Amino acid sequence: MPQGVGGAPLSASGKLSFASLGSGSKGNATLVSDGETAVLVDCGFGLRETERRLARLGVHPRQLDAVLVTHEHGDHLRGVGPLARRHGVPVYLTPGTWLSGRLGEVPQRHWITPQARFAVKSLMIDPITVPHDAREPVQFRFESRGCHLGVLTDLGHPTEHVIEAFRGCDALILECNHDRHMLEVGPYPPQLKRRVGGNWGHLANVQAAALLRHLGLDRLQHIVCSHLSEHNNRPELALEALTPLLDGDASRLTIAAQDSGLQWQAIR
Ligand SMILES: [Zn+2]
Ligand SMILES: [Zn+2]
Repeated sequence: MPQGVGGAPLSASGKLSFASLGSGSKGNATLVSDGETAVLVDCGFGLRETERRLARLGVHPRQLDAVLVTHEHGDHLRGVGPLARRHGVPVYLTPGTWLSGRLGEVPQRHWITPQARFAVKSLMIDPITVPHDAREPVQFRFESRGCHLGVLTDLGHPTEHVIEAFRGCDALILECNHDRHMLEVGPYPPQLKRRVGGNWGHLANVQAAALLRHLGLDRLQHIVCSHLSEHNNRPELALEALTPLLDGDASRLTIAAQDSGLQWQAIR
């Protein structure tokens, strides 16, 4: 399994691997590594908390080749500036995300152009436009040595474009934000309910299941239910929504939790 302590390779196997520092409305951050290159997707935790959670996964911040930002919401951006300034990590983001003004100065900034593939060392990255209520949000598909990983959260609804872009992945980190009934009867004020459940908000469990059906499941080794709402979802409801698609083989399903995240997973 990947080990990052003392500058050792993050993924000794050289396989495309991923881990979650934590996922949910209080903060999101995902590690992706192929042994040669390591990037963090988003950083929604404060600096100390990020360092602590990276250490839990055997990674020192200075081993990160980049932090890629999906969009400017605090649960994704909060810790990006502090991490970049403290440890000199290059930041990749769209001009729209930058224009939100929430990042501050960072030592190295690189533009992401949606739909234009770019590389961070050995990792090939496709930034994909998604419907979400931010300025210029993207989600990412990674490729290394023929293995493909999709990271897809903060999605208001599945579009043809998204389905096309995420087809054929070996592993998928997928938003299962809310259970529609729990959202309906839950504690959120009406306006927030409409935002979360709307076309530019977040993906419901049933929508995640429908999206998976469109993507096809044959090649998927790992499906990680992510960005679960603390108030409007429960892990067992997310699993219950997706398990019927898997011919009863729930071993491919895991949850990225808010506090404990998810340990390293390697793609075979
Ligand atoms: Zn979010
Ligand atoms: Zn968001």
